[in-house]
Amino acid sequence: MTGPDTRAADPAAACSVGRHVPGGAIVVDEHGTRHAKCRHCGCSLSRLQSIRRWYRSGQLG
Ligand SMILES: [Zn+2]
Repeated sequence: MTGPDTRAADPAAACSVGRHVPGGAIVVDEHGTRHAKCRHCGCSLSRLQSIRRWYRSGQLG
């Protein structure tokens, strides 16, 4: 169960440029948006169905 993101040489640096890696439980809400927490820095992440990338969702509450 390894992906490209886990091969980052420096996870902390990856987080600093917005390349977070979701870890643990992923929750899908009624809009189909997925929510998880970054396995490296612990920030809240969301992913829309329409865009295939995770983004930090802390500012959205
Ligand atoms: Zn992170």
